[in-house]
Amino acid sequence: MDPRPALALFDLDDTLVRRRTSFIDAVTALCLEHGFGVEIRAWMLSELADRANADDFVRLRHEYALDCRAEPLWGEFVDRMANAVSCDPAVLQGLERLRADEWRIGIVANGASDVQRAKIGATGLADLVDGVAVSGDIDVRKPDARLFALAAARCHTCLSAEAWMTGDSPSADIAGGHQAGIRTIWVRGRSWPEGFMAPHHTVDCVTDAISYLLRDGCRHGEAGRARGAR
Ligand SMILES: [Mg+2]
Repeated sequence: MDPRPALALFDLDDTLVRRRTSFIDAVTALCLEHGFGVEIRAWMLSELADRANADDFVRLRHEYALDCRAEPLWGEFVDRMANAVSCDPAVLQGLERLRADEWRIGIVANGASDVQRAKIGATGLADLVDGVAVSGDIDVRKPDARLFALAAARCHTCLSAEAWMTGDSPSADIAGGHQAGIRTIWVRGRSWPEGFMAPHHTVDCVTDAISYLLRDGCRHGEAGRARGAR
């Protein structure tokens, strides 16, 4: 029987791509285009800072009695986010190396399906991953283990103790990975909250996480044992 493939799951925002700066750029461009003033810009930067979906633009329209319809405004925001977001070429190269090393690669992201998939497409990540699970697909958010299981299924495998989750959020990614019964790599950047179970490994950036997976990720795993035997 074939060994279970090595599985590396990744968070999207501020792990594989830089959301924070692209979000500010997208909001600024949208406000300029529509002549929105500082108050609306501040509302968007505050209300949409962690996540955004189509309903937020319905709220925005009502809050400020805007003339424009909410749906096309949301569509514009999605397009502008996709255009503004970037993925470090070193990350794309690292994922290529993981694939060459026979890893399955998945993305587990909270957020609206259309904006997350637009970003994954625009950055070139879509060509390098085997499966994507976005919370908007099934209305289940990280840290719920069901979203991790969906990502694994979309990578045509299943979760196991040898799989890995890499992300920047202690609550969504690391606690979620623990709940899903897989190993975790925290991309540090924010402070670690008290009382949370520690990650299995900590790095400064996702490229370091990929290097770690390539070097040590399969050492004790089923797939690693199979590779070692080759
Ligand atoms: Mg994140």
